[in-house]
Amino acid sequence: MKNGFKAAIFDLDGTLVTTDLSHAHGIIRRTLHELGIHHFPEEAVKEFWYRADRGTVIRDYFNAPVDAFWNLFHLYDLPKSRAAATHSYPDVAILYAYKKQGYKLGVFTSSQPAVAALELALVHVPFDVVVCAHPSLGIPYKPHPGGIYHCLEKLQVQSHQAIFVGNGQEDIEAAQRAQVHDVYLDRGEYIFPQLHPTSTITSLHGLDHFL
Ligand SMILES: [Mg+2]
Repeated sequence: MKNGFKAAIFDLDGTLVTTDLSHAHGIIRRTLHELGIHHFPEEAVKEFWYRADRGTVIRDYFNAPVDAFWNLFHLYDLPKSRAAATHSYPDVAILYAYKKQGYKLGVFTSSQPAVAALELALVHVPFDVVVCAHPSLGIPYKPHPGGIYHCLEKLQVQSHQAIFVGNGQEDIEAAQRAQVHDVYLDRGEYIFPQLHPTSTITSLHGLDHFL
């Protein structure tokens, strides 16, 4: 196999599937309304959706209390309505080819398991392992590399035999901390000011360089 890689692990949201920003917008508006906040800058929705430090966005852009915001947000972010606003990117089809070539495929996502299950059903790729961050079960959110370690163990590969592909700053940090080859998937939806990926691709077809 190319470059000694045996496995590819993927982030889910924004990497394999995409959710209409209008979905986030609706939930944020409802959440803030409940908290007595009726005006917020439009661009804040995009900041909230793409940035890793969402607590900062909630505080600085929405002027909302972080814990109270999350409690309501999760209450309104119902898996079914999220799934209805989500579709897979057309280029995920290439993962079948890698699977056929014998690569092991995994997913490490910060989504809640119920959301992840609905989203994965849209992708139709037989992943060998799916890990959802779950701090109370010992799998912290990215950029902690714990979920990647968990995938490596399940896939029975070592860190230098795997790549991790993601569209967010937390993905790149988690991969670098786990010492797997980090690949930033730039879908052209958001520009991160401070991102230093080892490799960058603009669609999943770019993985042909590595796999
Ligand atoms: Mg993502």
